[in-house]
Amino acid sequence: MNQLITSKIQKMKNIKNIDKIVFGQGSFKQLDQIIEPVRQENNQYFVFIVDDFFKGKELEKDLPLKAKDIVKFVYTGKDEPKTSQIDNLRDEILNSQGLPSGVVGIGGGSAMDIAKALSVMFAQKGSSTLYQGLNLAKNKGVYHLGIPTISGTGAECSTTAVLTGPEKKLGIKCEYTPFNQLILDPELTKTVPKDKWFYTGMDCYIHCVESSSGRLYNTFSKAYGDTALNLCREVYLGKSSGQTSENAEKLMVASLFGGLSLSYSEVGVCHALSYGLSYVFGTRHGLANCISFNVLEDYYPQGVKEFKQMLETHDISLPKDLAQTWSDEQITKMAEIAYALSHMWDHALGENWKELLTLDMIKDLFKRM
Ligand code: NAD
Ligand code: ZN
Repeated sequence: MNQLITSKIQKMKNIKNIDKIVFGQGSFKQLDQIIEPVRQENNQYFVFIVDDFFKGKELEKDLPLKAKDIVKFVYTGKDEPKTSQIDNLRDEILNSQGLPSGVVGIGGGSAMDIAKALSVMFAQKGSSTLYQGLNLAKNKGVYHLGIPTISGTGAECSTTAVLTGPEKKLGIKCEYTPFNQLILDPELTKTVPKDKWFYTGMDCYIHCVESSSGRLYNTFSKAYGDTALNLCREVYLGKSSGQTSENAEKLMVASLFGGLSLSYSEVGVCHALSYGLSYVFGTRHGLANCISFNVLEDYYPQGVKEFKQMLETHDISLPKDLAQTWSDEQITKMAEIAYALSHMWDHALGENWKELLTLDMIKDLFKRM
């Protein structure tokens, strides 16, 4: 039984939350009006970071652009956001027009994390690799606004912007990272292909399971996490499950609440393995989580059972027998990356996790994939 009393957590986090939220079908249209007052700041222009899927689509035409605004389409189909990408974008933009009034990030976890990281990095010196970690950025970044177009990661509300650098995949995590404003318009998610809808949505489901299965779990995390879990169940297992507009609303709220649940808890074993997979093979976060979670019945028996029902209901088949093609060196590297994520193991297994877990045990989990 989990201990829900918060005083058992030794040091309470002081969470920076999102300042403002608009929610509802069609709310994207309010973007112009929302950023208008901010346009007076700095050099009076906005940077729009937009997922490349929207190039040439309706949304591009609906961007409320003014003369000096810059639109950067980011291709997120292959790689997750990189430190070098952020550094280059920042330098290029600052050199051309100076400090912008703000950044708008439109897309999934990748585009939103790029917008978050960029907004922080506009105010820091040197490479973003110097700021991967907790509270390393010392100056307040520029205003930033997030508009998710695929639901599940919780990146819309988290205090971190996950970046892959030459040495590690780790977030810029500080109080300047969370968005000043969110526009949650579920209509924007209607074009998401089914496999991505499943994998990214499962990120939210897994966040809730991991958040609730560890020592940091508490009343705050439970309230958000239970709501998010129930919404995920309605979306993926309920009588009207599937990609309907009603479910698009539910999944968008679930994603937000799953993220808020985590803000006062932590991810666990699945995310530790998933980071290893993404680092070594570049596997996308949602898919990497699904591949990892699928072999974790020893750690999350109920969650994995339900996850398998969801896979079946939506006829999703995960890649099989991956480990057969992996070298021992690759498996060891993934296990080392996973082992290094001590905060996740500490949450999932307890403070004495090093007595309970060996590198070989992690390697065995990878070998089951
Ligand atoms: P993503 O942003 O990488 O996008 C996945 C794919 O979906 C892309 O091909 C994109 O073009 C497509 N897509 C997005 N919206 C679409 C739409 N409306 N219609 C059609 N296609 C659409 O995927 P994601 O799963 O949202 O994000 C993964 C990233 O988020 C990873 O980089 C991961 O590290 C990061 N992440 C961050 C946090 C955080 O707290 N900051 C949490 C979890 C994951
Ligand atoms: Zn995740």
